[in-house]
Amino acid sequence: MADQKLDKKDRMKIPRARMPEQEPKDRIRNFLEVPYGLTEEQAFTEAQRCIECAKAPCIAGCPVEVDIPGFIKLVIERDYAGAARKIKETNSLPAICGRVCPQEEQCEVVCILAKKFKPVAIGYLERFVADYERENNLVQLPKKGPDTGFKVAIVGSGPAGLTVAGDLILLGHQVTIFEALHKTGGVLVYGIPEFRLPKKIVQSECDYLARLGVEFKPSTVIGKSDTIDELFEMGYDAIFIGTGAGLPNFMGIPGENLIGIYSSNEYLTRSNLMRAFDFPSYDTPIIHGKNVAVLGGGNTAMDSVRTALRLGADNAYIVYRRSETEMPARIEEIHHARQEGVQFHLLTNPVRFMGNDEGKVVAMECIKMELGEPDSSGRRRPVPIEGSNFVMEVDLVVVAIGNSSNPLIPQTTPGLDTNKWGNITVNADTMQTSREGVYAGGDIVTGGATVILAAGAGKKAAKAMHQFLLSKKGAMSASA
Ligand SMILES: Cc1cc2nc3c(=O)[nH]c(=O)nc-3n(C[C@H](O)[C@H](O)[C@H](O)COP(=O)(O)OP(=O)(O)OC[C@H]3O[C@@H](n4cnc5c(N)ncnc54)[C@H](O)[C@@H]3O)c2cc1C
Repeated sequence: MADQKLDKKDRMKIPRARMPEQEPKDRIRNFLEVPYGLTEEQAFTEAQRCIECAKAPCIAGCPVEVDIPGFIKLVIERDYAGAARKIKETNSLPAICGRVCPQEEQCEVVCILAKKFKPVAIGYLERFVADYERENNLVQLPKKGPDTGFKVAIVGSGPAGLTVAGDLILLGHQVTIFEALHKTGGVLVYGIPEFRLPKKIVQSECDYLARLGVEFKPSTVIGKSDTIDELFEMGYDAIFIGTGAGLPNFMGIPGENLIGIYSSNEYLTRSNLMRAFDFPSYDTPIIHGKNVAVLGGGNTAMDSVRTALRLGADNAYIVYRRSETEMPARIEEIHHARQEGVQFHLLTNPVRFMGNDEGKVVAMECIKMELGEPDSSGRRRPVPIEGSNFVMEVDLVVVAIGNSSNPLIPQTTPGLDTNKWGNITVNADTMQTSREGVYAGGDIVTGGATVILAAGAGKKAAKAMHQFLLSKKGAMSASA
């Protein structure tokens, strides 16, 4: 029997679904995913909360303009795989975005229900349909366009590179992804921990691309093994650079070279990519601190501090120089960190690290801060309070204060323009760089941003690269 449709008033009375998740006391002892995902009935009920408003502001709230009411309607019809396919029309990574996108600042914040009630849980629904499609083997391989004979090289296998690959392979081009690390997925595999994004989900996205015919060349550092110009000489007709922002920033204060001070990149890579948490199956060394200070207030800081707890810290601190309002981390991550017992030292900034005779960090001197006028980021500038210095005992420090772009490719590619931060500059409509046939997108262009923005840039670049290749074909046949 078909499900009965509720009228609008009744739909508005339905409370927003609560995501079932592991209890904090259990989850700080394991690396399993924290939220379990909605059940089918929860998803169906949540979907009915969408009142199908005329303007659908959620669509514009999404950086890649997913047809949100369209996919929710399919959930109400219980066509979950159809709903996943609807999302994939504009976002190829729904299982990932359903988990890590900041929906509370994007599609959900503009949901019309948010004015009086809680917004529709769009992210939960996105995750549900994508998981349903994958877990029930309903992922279909779309039909590919006829072979164009063109070869495309993609440098970097993060969300930007994977998106370009997915779009261009369907348009009939041959696609090869070059990746510096031994595993593909970019930050999705080396940065974001298993308890937030299980690696099997990233792997299934890469497997899907491989089934479509994308060739992966891992452990290949472009700029070292071959340069961008050498890729052209090898016969590639167009190149996409999606190398991310993987160069860690440091505080630049005394004692930063002591043993026991990691960049968040190194700490998370050891734990996630090299699976240090999975001892003795993997014997990657990692320092198991008892008093761990993580410096920063973004997602990377939250991922690092929650990793430290799971690796056995008695005290895991966030040390952040502004207040919670200015923290760039997702609200959900801050909430989960608090639930797990992370201690927040806000308006606090380290000024030096102190070591013992063995060169190991044992303490950190900090100064309290207050907020002044807004700075260029629009956030209130933290100002040190004179004489407020104090010392914290620490045996592990993780510096998570942001990343810059790796200079390798710009340095080895003549004529590739960058801005003052070393990010590659592009035409914002086409993602074309200053070099013909070379496109770029994701964090290497924007600096550290989000998965969905990287994927959106990949979509834009793929479209322009296809046009570029078609125009090349036109020029070739005209000269034949
Ligand atoms: C710890 C952490 C947590 C985050 N959490 C969130 C979150 O919750 N939500 C969210 O939306 N965003 C989050 N982000 C940001 C998000 O992950 C990035 O914005 C996104 O991954 C950028 O995608 P990308 O494709 O540009 O680059 P990346 O994902 O960085 O991938 C770039 C890839 O290029 C490879 N590469 C680099 N140089 C070369 C070279 N010379 N040759 C070959 N390969 C190369 C790298 O090894 C890497 O695999 C987080 C970031 C971090 C670090």
